[in-house]
Amino acid sequence: MTPGLEHAHPSSNRRHRVVVVGSSFAGLTAALEVHRRLGDAAEITVIDPRDRFTFIPSLIWVPFGGRQADDIQFELAPMYGKKGIRFVNTAATQIDGTGRVVHTADGQEHPYDRLVIATGPRLAFERIPGLGPHGGHTQSVCTMEHAVAAKVAWERFLERPGPIVVGTAQGGSCFGASYEFLLNAQHALRKAGIADKVPVTFVSSEPFLGHFGLGGVGDSEQRVQGMFDKLGIRGIANASIDAVEDGAMHLAGGETLEFAYSMIVPPFAGVAAVMESEGLANPAGFIPITDEYRHAAFPEIFAAGVDVAIAPKTATLVPTGVPKTGYMSEHMAKIAAENIAADLQGGEHHRVPLDDLGAVCILDGGDTGMIIKTDKVLGDAEHTHIMSGPQAHWAKIAFEKVFISARKHGRLVL
Ligand SMILES: Cc1cc2nc3c(=O)[nH]c(=O)nc-3n(C[C@H](O)[C@H](O)[C@H](O)COP(=O)(O)OP(=O)(O)OC[C@H]3O[C@@H](n4cnc5c(N)ncnc54)[C@H](O)[C@@H]3O)c2cc1C
Repeated sequence: MTPGLEHAHPSSNRRHRVVVVGSSFAGLTAALEVHRRLGDAAEITVIDPRDRFTFIPSLIWVPFGGRQADDIQFELAPMYGKKGIRFVNTAATQIDGTGRVVHTADGQEHPYDRLVIATGPRLAFERIPGLGPHGGHTQSVCTMEHAVAAKVAWERFLERPGPIVVGTAQGGSCFGASYEFLLNAQHALRKAGIADKVPVTFVSSEPFLGHFGLGGVGDSEQRVQGMFDKLGIRGIANASIDAVEDGAMHLAGGETLEFAYSMIVPPFAGVAAVMESEGLANPAGFIPITDEYRHAAFPEIFAAGVDVAIAPKTATLVPTGVPKTGYMSEHMAKIAAENIAADLQGGEHHRVPLDDLGAVCILDGGDTGMIIKTDKVLGDAEHTHIMSGPQAHWAKIAFEKVFISARKHGRLVL
């Protein structure tokens, strides 16, 4: 048994209280997996201020009209209701790891025997003056609201086209999203017949293109460079954005990039409820965990997904985060749920070091793309396969449809 941890009320007949904060890839998976393992023995409460699940990987299609909100969202309450899981549609404001209680914005308290924190990132636009859609000058596709605003801006751009700047800011970690947006923008420009009139620049904190925050995956550097050369995209690695004004992005080192449209993935930080709760997070707001996805200091707390602290594999000139993909987030959540079941009902605990997590990633390029499969995304991979071509685009569409249909009915297939 983990030191300092007791089985929750082994002799009482009370149901085990499991609270999950956050209901996206990691939180939803954790809740369903705990339910699958413990059934009626657990009273599960899920807390999230969003009332709908969004299939975030498809947000890159929204600005170009490929998807609308209803295509890639579903309501959470009915799905949880059918499973007997309580859904509390508000934000957690504070997590008291000593008192084992979550406080929410509606003034309620939610005591727990085991807690899963799956709150994802806070999008830290404020770190770069002029960045982001909230009063700034760049677009984002990190949320449905942002993607819809990015679509309005794209339609305005098509009326008066000019240079495009796409990328990931320093401290960001979601490189796949900016590469996918870039390639889909190029595809949309080709369809509009203006690709040869629009200069496209990609800026990234990565030390080299195709690094992805991982030091590269297989021959990703050569593949990405080949794609950029073919499409005539200028790539700037080691980029650090100082400030953005209307139509101009200022990089550290003095270069200014003019643009008529820009989409930049912002720096990621931990959410306020985690950062401001005593002893939960590191200074950046991410949660340190053990190989059981258990909090390093509070053994009743587990964490999964983007809110987990993962140190970069290698030092980089410009701060470059480590990506935590949907696949990885769900895998972490399943391990956490398995260990919660083992804590509460007995059985083997499951230990998977972060370095041993695998990943399957589909990078869509509008009508082509890349499928990347690796056995160890953060460690020393022994088996990595990359396949480029139009099948990647169709694979992403198929994956989206099967995933949404399964999760909408509370199923964890895939
Ligand atoms: C544009 C884009 C494209 C992507 N494409 C891919 C892809 O193709 N493949 C892939 O594998 N991954 C992709 N990713 C990454 C993937 O989306 C993430 O890995 C995944 O969303 C992480 O899930 P999560 O549950 O950890 O966090 P999130 O999805 O960020 O969810 C966090 C949840 O916590 C909730 N929350 C936040 N604060 C609180 C609070 N105080 N109280 C309660 N709830 C709270 C939020 O409302 C949200 O529902 C993409 C990401 C982006 C942005």
